[in-house]
Amino acid sequence: MTSMELACLFKDQPLSRYSTYEIGGQAKFLALPRKDTDVLDLLEIAQNQGLHPLLFGMGSNLLFPDEPNPDTLFISTRSHMEISINQDRLHVSAGTPMSLLALIGAAIGTSDFDFCFLLPGTLGGGVYMNAKYFSNHISDYIDRVYYVDLDDFRQGIQSISVEHCEFAYKQSIFQRKNWFIISADLKIKQLPDHPEALQPFLAQLDRGMLENSSLQVFSSYYMKWLDRLKQEHDPTAIPMRSIITDRNGKLHFEYPSCGSVFKNNYSIGEPIGKLADRLHLRGTQHGMAMISPVHGNVIQNRGGAKAEDVIHLIRLVQESIDKHYGFVPEPELVIVS
Ligand SMILES: Cc1cc2nc3c(=O)[nH]c(=O)nc-3n(C[C@H](O)[C@H](O)[C@H](O)COP(=O)(O)OP(=O)(O)OC[C@H]3O[C@@H](n4cnc5c(N)ncnc54)[C@H](O)[C@@H]3O)c2cc1C
Repeated sequence: MTSMELACLFKDQPLSRYSTYEIGGQAKFLALPRKDTDVLDLLEIAQNQGLHPLLFGMGSNLLFPDEPNPDTLFISTRSHMEISINQDRLHVSAGTPMSLLALIGAAIGTSDFDFCFLLPGTLGGGVYMNAKYFSNHISDYIDRVYYVDLDDFRQGIQSISVEHCEFAYKQSIFQRKNWFIISADLKIKQLPDHPEALQPFLAQLDRGMLENSSLQVFSSYYMKWLDRLKQEHDPTAIPMRSIITDRNGKLHFEYPSCGSVFKNNYSIGEPIGKLADRLHLRGTQHGMAMISPVHGNVIQNRGGAKAEDVIHLIRLVQESIDKHYGFVPEPELVIVS
């Protein structure tokens, strides 16, 4: 395929619409593949047109530039949502929201994925970063990951089993390889009571809502669905209250953000947020970006922030922690140049 006429390929799109930070300038090329073959066609186009593919999911762990490179083809997996069940395995495409896994669990009767509730982002982004909530990591549930090697995409879809994915705290092999995660097989440890409920449940979803990067839309849509599932099933069988309380307490959905900006450095013994608090960095503002008044490891967009405002605050936290504690915190969020 050499033409730029692919249905999932769009021109001149504001990246701010595709990131939970709501930050980012105009992308000259942006694609939303809906199936595996779209991905391969897009990679062919990118190669023929001399464009550099930049993959992402929901944009909940990255910062887009104010002036994107016109030679970049931004590819978000969010429109590729396919889920099937086969006994103790869920096959899930990379664009599937992680939070949806929790609702699927509630619909089919397994609590395995409860920890994903209100965890923004797609499965692909979660596998890349080994997303976690307290002691639960997405890697605990991975059996096999399917990917395309961007350096040799004509080989098609390949796969890797979990033992070889090099998962650790906020790490995976996918951060070191130029691979496009397409889908994964997830293990279901607590077998579902009614697996046949999966497809009817999926058919009722509003895809537009699931693809939206606004954190407010995200939280209200999932809360609405949780209430509905509670009414249909035994309310006590859906124990996500502590997650809701925790995330609302941290004002996760109040302002656009990417959640925690830095990885914790466990050799120090205290989370980065606590160190930033001790240095009285909470509430510090630059332009329209602000270190959250309630969490020192979150930088919020208070309305119209630029990428450079966020980067300024990232450097401020790094320099302050280096000066007082002798190390430079490593960002968790991916800064797109
Ligand atoms: C309010 C809030 C709360 C959060 N809480 C948590 C939390 O509790 N725990 C946690 O772990 N994270 C948390 N995060 C961060 C974020 O939700 C996760 O890191 C999530 O996994 C990112 O998924 P994404 O689809 O948005 O990835 P993106 O932000 O779109 O991309 C992130 C990185 O993954 C790569 N990537 C994405 N998809 C693919 C793919 N298909 N193939 C190859 N590479 C890919 C991108 O290239 C990029 O480098 C939070 C974020 C927010 C906004």
